[in-house]
Amino acid sequence: MPAKRSSTFDLIKTLTELPGPVGFETAVQDHIAAHWGGFAQEVRRTRVDNVLAKVGGKGERLVIVAHADELCWIVRSISDEGFLHIGPFYRDLVGRPTKNTIPLNQPALVVTSTGTVEGIFATASGHVVSPTQRAQTTWEWTDWFIDLGITSKAEVEALGIHPGCKVLWNPETRRLGANLITGKAMDDRVAMAIATLTGERLAERSDLRFEVWLASTIQEENGLIGAASITDDLRADRSIALDVGLTGDVPGVDARMFPGRMGEGPIVVYNDFSVHYDWAFSEELVRTARANDIPVQEAAFANYGSDGSEMIKRGVKSALVTYPTRYTHSPIETVDERDVEACVDLLVAYVTNGG
Ligand SMILES: [Zn+2]
Repeated sequence: MPAKRSSTFDLIKTLTELPGPVGFETAVQDHIAAHWGGFAQEVRRTRVDNVLAKVGGKGERLVIVAHADELCWIVRSISDEGFLHIGPFYRDLVGRPTKNTIPLNQPALVVTSTGTVEGIFATASGHVVSPTQRAQTTWEWTDWFIDLGITSKAEVEALGIHPGCKVLWNPETRRLGANLITGKAMDDRVAMAIATLTGERLAERSDLRFEVWLASTIQEENGLIGAASITDDLRADRSIALDVGLTGDVPGVDARMFPGRMGEGPIVVYNDFSVHYDWAFSEELVRTARANDIPVQEAAFANYGSDGSEMIKRGVKSALVTYPTRYTHSPIETVDERDVEACVDLLVAYVTNGG
């Protein structure tokens, strides 16, 4: 009995709104393991909490990889008045926030062992700061804090919040215009949606030319940590990493360097700063798209890495397929539903030889 197929928008909304900060992806992994269990022949949770699901088929083992984690901030301390002071989750070489990843004025969600607590990312307003503060052109980490609407440290601690807890920006996922979808964690839950929709379609078929698996990895944003052990738990022959694709179709971006555009299909990426992907495999994906009238784009990225790099280091032939995404690493990451569906079409066509 084939499992019911998911609607693209509903699936993206559900997956992106789950809390999955780097290093605490449990809610996402619980959800995805249950969903994949609805159509997969087998679902595994590894020791570090990657999720692996066997869709079916015979032949070379192909793993389609998406990552569960999303950007977050880390609670560093709680003030006596109940405010949370925060710092970065990443290796911070600058010592202060970067210009392009600003959570201020967004709803916040603190993730604890027992659940989540809502708040807001705040800073003192222009009306109340000193002339010296107003003249400041860069942010310091201590300029930002989380207001939970709670007025004592003891009450905050009673909710299970402590230094080390992770904080997310927490907008609702919504449609924008006819085709776009905007919100947080499109990186990489849209990839999770693509993997899921592909798995649902492939599970109904008997003509797979690979043994197909799906993988949901932990801590990609923190240096591809989860992907590093996939091959210890599952010997794979090839992998397709799915992630956000950079576009040059907004003001302020040099389209000569970023030719990718929204609505023009998946972007097959030949290299980024982490690795050069398998050349023949990448071209095979492009040929598959063209032969099946699926729109496709090609690109080289810099200042970008993916789980595919870790898979190649572990001996797995790997390609990177991306979906065009505007405003990456922001609370308004934006994708085009048509590109998401074209990614699914491309993966299904590749696995079934265009059938
Ligand atoms: Zn990503």
